Amino acid sequence: DKLGVNEIRSLFLEFFKSKGHLVVASYPLVPQNDKSLLLINAGMAPLKPYFAGTEEPPNKRMATCQKCIRTGDIENVGKTARHATFFEMLGNFSFGDYFKVESIQWGWEFATKYLKMPEDKLWASIYHEDDESFEIWNKVIGLPAEKIVRLGKEDNFWEIGLGPCGPCSEIYYDRGEKYSCGSPNCKPGCECDRYIEFWNHVFTQFDKDEAGNYNLLPNPNIDTGMGLERVACIMQDVNSIYDIDTMSFILKRVCEEIGVTYKENRENDISICIITDHIRSIAFMISDGIIPSNEGRGYVLRRLLRRAARHGKLLGNNDLFLYKLIDSVVEMFGDAYEELKDKKTYIQKVIKVEEERFQETINQGLDILNEYISNMEKSGERNLTGENAFKLYDTFGFPLELTKEILQEKGMDVNEDSFEKEMEKQRNRARSARVDGDTEGWKEDALSSLNKELQTNFIGYDYLEAEGNI
Ligand code: ATP
Ligand code: MG
Ligand code: MG
Ligand code: MG
Repeated sequence: DKLGVNEIRSLFLEFFKSKGHLVVASYPLVPQNDKSLLLINAGMAPLKPYFAGTEEPPNKRMATCQKCIRTGDIENVGKTARHATFFEMLGNFSFGDYFKVESIQWGWEFATKYLKMPEDKLWASIYHEDDESFEIWNKVIGLPAEKIVRLGKEDNFWEIGLGPCGPCSEIYYDRGEKYSCGSPNCKPGCECDRYIEFWNHVFTQFDKDEAGNYNLLPNPNIDTGMGLERVACIMQDVNSIYDIDTMSFILKRVCEEIGVTYKENRENDISICIITDHIRSIAFMISDGIIPSNEGRGYVLRRLLRRAARHGKLLGNNDLFLYKLIDSVVEMFGDAYEELKDKKTYIQKVIKVEEERFQETINQGLDILNEYISNMEKSGERNLTGENAFKLYDTFGFPLELTKEILQEKGMDVNEDSFEKEMEKQRNRARSARVDGDTEGWKEDALSSLNKELQTNFIGYDYLEAEGNI
């Protein structure tokens, strides 16, 4: 009956293979030889050297299903129907080979013939100056002019600093009136979830130079990205990406573990989705060799894990629960991503150590933060001092973002400048004490020795278990 996530993934890769694309496995979430990016956030990111021409691609046409992390979307989790911090991006790429006509035609063919989306539900957006794309949509595909929306630079022009850049064209699916925000201007590009953007086609046709000129590239490229969860949401005709086959399987385990019911009240649902989303990000990040720390990727992981733990508390749970959810993640994704299966025990251990550690301080930290909040309410103060936010961070392991989130629920915030000053002071203390590169305020324990072992070189759980390192 309805297409599952795993079927859609295969269908896509098979389709582009049949169009002469080399299909390769997802690259790891940790960028290789790219200092500009903390975590892979799009299918094209690991392929940058091929786009820039600094490396020769193994094939001029490639297709992937790429693991992505976008922490920039963290606030939207559970609130919009379409955002997750971890998602899979299906993509087809052309390095100086085919261009707009093929990209759009194959996009249309895949959506209407393979996924069998009804043509009348589909819309397209184009960059407002890109008449070439308009002509293709209108004349070649036959999409009526009123269903081709022209959008501006923020939405439909892709560029990062200098170098290759160009216009985009997005494909949207109209989920109908019942999902509309009700605005008379509700159309593709609207922030609500009626017209759901599922496939972005980027046409890198320019090279932006120092003087700000857009020079035409002799060999323009194609870079497309289609959110697998969003396609599944459309194909399975469900409310949000949290209701698709794979996600709802994990979500049900979350509810069982915590003893809470989904779709009873909105606040709880947001927490349930946050845990469902974050556990997936956490599992994939650890399987790619990241472990919790106070810096860089490790800090992103720590933030996600502690945020999920806190939402468990909000749902009334007082036990360790995150590591128990890994079974369900591996059951859903282990076949497509062997690294999850291979490292399952290791992933559970890393989570458990971090969860236990936070468990020791979270209640005390929450009590103290609540005390700060009630004092601030009395005095009419809106911003928590940097000293207090730093105390929560350093003594109770509250990532700044977690403290901010809790305060923001009360219409308050943190004085970030003064928090930064406290951080700087601590860095200086650590520097003068010279505690062999370890700048965190935490006591030495299982996890920080794990950190040192793994930060530069991922060894894997066999070694760790053999050495009794966890
Ligand atoms: P939106 O406007 O909905 O935030 P976007 O324009 O930021 O999406 P792109 O950068 O164009 O997204 O990424 C390509 C595709 O990846 C999108 O069309 C969408 O299908 C998917 N995608 C992007 N962000 C997310 C996310 N946070 N969760 C799930 N899928 C996503
Ligand atoms: Mg976005
Ligand atoms: Mg968009
Ligand atoms: Mg987009």
